[in-house]
Amino acid sequence: MAPVIAPFEATAVESIPSTVNLCKTTFRTHKSKPVAYRLVQLRKLWWGLHDNMEALTEACKKDLGKPVFETGISEIDWCMNDIIFVTKNLEKWAKDESAPDIDLQNKLFSPRIKKEPLGTVLIIGAFNFPIQLSFGPLIGAIAAGCTAVLKPSEVSPASAMVLKKIVEEYLDPNAYAVVNGSIPESTALLNEKWDKIFYTGSGNVGTIIAKKAAETLTPVCLELGGQNPAFVTNHADARLAARRLLWGKLHNAGQVCISQNYIMVEKDILPAFIEQLKVAIKEFYPKGQRNSEDFARIVNNRHFQRIKKMVDDSKGKILIGGEMDESDNFIEITVVLVQDQNDSMIVDESFGPLMPLLAVDNIEEAIRTANSVHSTPLGLYAFGSKAETTKILNEVTSGGASINDAFYHGSIPTLAFGGVGDSGQGAYRGKASFDTFTHRRSITTTPGWIEKMLDIRYPPYAGKLEKFRKMNGKKANFDRNGKEIKGLGYWLRGPSFKAGLVRWVLVAAVAFGANRYATAGAGRLPSWLR
Ligand code: NAD
Repeated sequence: MAPVIAPFEATAVESIPSTVNLCKTTFRTHKSKPVAYRLVQLRKLWWGLHDNMEALTEACKKDLGKPVFETGISEIDWCMNDIIFVTKNLEKWAKDESAPDIDLQNKLFSPRIKKEPLGTVLIIGAFNFPIQLSFGPLIGAIAAGCTAVLKPSEVSPASAMVLKKIVEEYLDPNAYAVVNGSIPESTALLNEKWDKIFYTGSGNVGTIIAKKAAETLTPVCLELGGQNPAFVTNHADARLAARRLLWGKLHNAGQVCISQNYIMVEKDILPAFIEQLKVAIKEFYPKGQRNSEDFARIVNNRHFQRIKKMVDDSKGKILIGGEMDESDNFIEITVVLVQDQNDSMIVDESFGPLMPLLAVDNIEEAIRTANSVHSTPLGLYAFGSKAETTKILNEVTSGGASINDAFYHGSIPTLAFGGVGDSGQGAYRGKASFDTFTHRRSITTTPGWIEKMLDIRYPPYAGKLEKFRKMNGKKANFDRNGKEIKGLGYWLRGPSFKAGLVRWVLVAAVAFGANRYATAGAGRLPSWLR
């Protein structure tokens, strides 16, 4: 029997301030801070996911036609494994750290970093991975010792209701809550004062969130989108590039923030690449995507129309696919050869199964194009020789990158994930999820017996500056032109091959001299040196 999923119901706006207040009050009681409490909450969340696997799978099917396999690997199992990883490491992460790079005299003050929860945080999720993008940050918030309110995306309404049920049934209701709804509910949440807002979604809404947060100096983590470029050079393996980039578009029917938005292909390899795309599509979907259980649907009619319009407005030529069915929000993987970067399929993020190809003469042209379409994309994918992919990495920035693959870097659950510039700020996943909700508090302890040494800091100051400089002053190791002055330290450290060589010559000379000395006048050497 299919699990029963409650129909979507927005949370009453009037109830939001008291819900937030309860989470804040609980934080102030320090209840959420002990590691033992955090571990119990995380383990309960694991069980909540475990017990609701069927409902979550069904909800993702309802919302996005998400294949069971995809819901497993990138939603449910993802979060459950994340909880296990976090609970195994939490004691270690939560421990005080001794502060790095402290000079000897300041070590006497026991400088350390204490990890403190930021407080009560707001998490706003997006629709495309309704479980992972909501529970992923929530796991980080609980691990850090925060209390939290989660607002899942109303665009995936069935999933939002299951998330609410899990949080309410499994977690401490005084510390964690789910508010469901759309703009009115989000606005009511944003009218509250938070200790951090973690937002996943579009840049437009990200701007609204950041402006609102700025009014109260609230820190934000913004996980946004970006028109991610892919590069296929003449030295790439056409088959591998085709299969892997297809994977980047077939997962969740391309509704993935890090999937490539457009592919720049060097002209010589273009025919082989197109041929291999056809071969791979046939292999992955022998009966077509329409009849396959392994291909998701576009989340709703609004997004269907948006993606359709990008294809309709394109001046390019459809090479593969193009089939659409509005009644089912179905859009086939559609490969289009576009003429230039101003095509409707490149200027906006498709967030769907579109694969515009742009033929380029060389990688310099591809790099120029990528940098003019979007200077700070979320992801970048390069196929080619080592020299070419290194050049691309060095000359096009992005939040993350996968070489020789579509978004592989984004599929490693413990690798920090985040954007740069327009594609976001802050990062999470693995330990980074704990860090993003943690304040690293610097603490020193001044012992009583040290008072004599501290005398220098108290007035009267006369004569003390010179003394201070003698004790603390550092000698510059660079000249007026910013060039490093290569003293003995430089040669001994060996920052280059040449310096390394000099170091070894020096060491050999000293050893040789010692040996000569020992042989000639062994009687004068202490016995342990002979
Ligand atoms: P969405 O419609 O799910 O909206 C995201 C969230 O913002 C929802 O919870 C929604 O209720 C809320 N929201 C919408 N309007 C709001 C407003 N005016 N005020 C306050 N909150 C509001 O998702 P979307 O925005 O359509 O998401 C698609 C975009 O998100 C794409 O650009 C995609 O690349 C990006 N995305 C980024 C990541 C990432 O990790 N970087 C992940 C997924 C999606």
